[in-house]
Amino acid sequence: MALSLDTRILMRKMRDLRSLTFRRHRVKAKWAASRPKYPPTNLALRHFDVTYSSQLGQLWPSVRAALLSERKYGALLNNFCQNDFMDNLASQGCRDFVTDTDRNEHAWTEEDPKVEFSEKSDSTCPEKRDISDQQQLSQPRLSPNIKCLVFPRGNITRFKPARPDTSGLLGYYLMDAASVLPCLALDVHEGHNLLDLCAAPGGKALALLQTHAIGFLCLNDSSVSRTSRLKKVFHSYVPKQLLTHEKLRVTSFDGTKWGEIEPNTFDRVLVDVPCTTDRHSLMEDDNNIFNKIRTGERRRLPQLQLQLLLAGVVAACPGGEIVYSTCTLSHIQNGGVVEQAIDLARESHGIQLQVVDLRPLTRMFRTTFHFASDLHLGELVIPHLAANFGPIYMCKLKRLT
Ligand code: SAM
Repeated sequence: MALSLDTRILMRKMRDLRSLTFRRHRVKAKWAASRPKYPPTNLALRHFDVTYSSQLGQLWPSVRAALLSERKYGALLNNFCQNDFMDNLASQGCRDFVTDTDRNEHAWTEEDPKVEFSEKSDSTCPEKRDISDQQQLSQPRLSPNIKCLVFPRGNITRFKPARPDTSGLLGYYLMDAASVLPCLALDVHEGHNLLDLCAAPGGKALALLQTHAIGFLCLNDSSVSRTSRLKKVFHSYVPKQLLTHEKLRVTSFDGTKWGEIEPNTFDRVLVDVPCTTDRHSLMEDDNNIFNKIRTGERRRLPQLQLQLLLAGVVAACPGGEIVYSTCTLSHIQNGGVVEQAIDLARESHGIQLQVVDLRPLTRMFRTTFHFASDLHLGELVIPHLAANFGPIYMCKLKRLT
């Protein structure tokens, strides 16, 4: 029986429709097969819900919302670049949070709940209890050359990608603005020898280089691929003559061994350790430490962090200063590691450490960041929807012997 033209058109359309439906299902089936039963991001959220709700109490829901929202960046100005982007960024409404500290006095105190942490009181370590008594809360010295621009609180405008100057160097580096704080805390003076023990991909190292004060800078990271990434970053931001200069060294050693290789050497040591990278763990399934196959690695993190911090302490010279930093809210990986390192440095290496009070520093930046108010060791930037930086933890130690 001959079919009418209309019927044939209709049948062809139905065939097309079936093939479309079929293809869509095929994609769906593949997606279902490749999707892990327990995505690492879900596991991370479950883990944080348990640990941080007891750590942060009633503050956790708002921190959780901030962590699950788009993060805020800062633009670290590259003063090796010939073009000055300061005016350009300022005209878009940004301000340099490092120099613009005048109006910070009453920040966060009126409208925000006090950030209280239920840390255990410290009964074993007198160094930690005495810090506020021993140190004056004087205004710290900041490098005038580190500049990091941010959009005001509540403003979530994104930065445009940085443009290169005539020699190909980019004008600014986008990073979590709170990551600049450990670099400021390091307080680099003219001619200092510096070790950045876990340096890749190089954001903090780049901030340190902006000081133009460094005598010698050793950048290390045990991961060869991440060290290559650091080199790429540096090629885009640092002049060639400096990259090949003898005052810059890039290595890929296991940082835990550094104390044995080069003890009592550096004026300043940055120990920015691998951690649970809370924000990344909640947002990205790729390379996620909460992936089931990385459970052992995740559980060993505090031990690795302790070994790295101890190596950094031993690598510092007597009188030298060490900044320990992470990007997690975890007490175990933050104050817990520092506490153990202080004890072990004394018991195993005969090194006395003093905790340096960073409150004079953080006090200057309270309009920009939301800090935890009652940590007994170190300072912590807590993510907040209106200022979605962090988490960044830092603690500064001074080698007395
Ligand atoms: N400081 C870097 C920056 O500002 O861009 C970020 C460092 S990231 C938080 C931690 C780094 O530690 C990773 O790049 C990782 O490869 C490195 N790492 C892990 N284990 C290490 C070890 N045993 N020795 C040295 N580096 C290590």
